[in-house]
Amino acid sequence: MSESLVRTRQDLRALKQELVEGAALVAGIGLVPLTQGNLSLRDPKSGLILMTPHDLAYDQMTTDDVVVQDLDGKVIEGRREPSHESQVHLAVYEQREDALGIVHAEPIYTNLFGVLHKPIAPLHVGTLIDVRGEVPVMPFAPSGSRQFGYDMLEVMGDRNAVVWANHGMLAIGDSLGKAIHCTVMVEISAQLYHMALQHGEPHQIPERYHGMLVG
Ligand SMILES: [Zn+2]
Repeated sequence: MSESLVRTRQDLRALKQELVEGAALVAGIGLVPLTQGNLSLRDPKSGLILMTPHDLAYDQMTTDDVVVQDLDGKVIEGRREPSHESQVHLAVYEQREDALGIVHAEPIYTNLFGVLHKPIAPLHVGTLIDVRGEVPVMPFAPSGSRQFGYDMLEVMGDRNAVVWANHGMLAIGDSLGKAIHCTVMVEISAQLYHMALQHGEPHQIPERYHGMLVG
């Protein structure tokens, strides 16, 4: 084995651990029921993508279950099948250089807006910072293809999150931690938006402040 391959394997071990811990966190705070959803991150050094496997409970997942793929989807390492939505993640890594982590989750209030096909207003300042605007809705389509990823990226523009109609959401970050944070902030604004609408029309954060926000 070449020295660089040995080094890549060592780097990947730490990143696999990061992915498994991230998946446990997302499941632990109720953002993905059962084996729904999927997470991935990109190794900035090798460019390889680490993906959660298909249909495995998050509380049983270990670093051995992580699937390593190249950008074309070829499995480089791992004994399991990659998530069936891995092509969507790969489309994002291919087209967005800023993406180092991705979460596809199924939070309930975000899904509420997903079934209404209604964009989520970034009512909380943290959502606006993370997403960079309103969370758009990707029209319903089967989500297993690269083309779904390309179509989704067009809907997203430069934003870091998107609701999938009738099927959860996807968030992008410059680390997996940021993608998880973004997922939480989308769900918080979805909850706020839903609750606020029971009382009236919520106030949006004025546009003149959008470039000045710090969380
Ligand atoms: Zn899904």
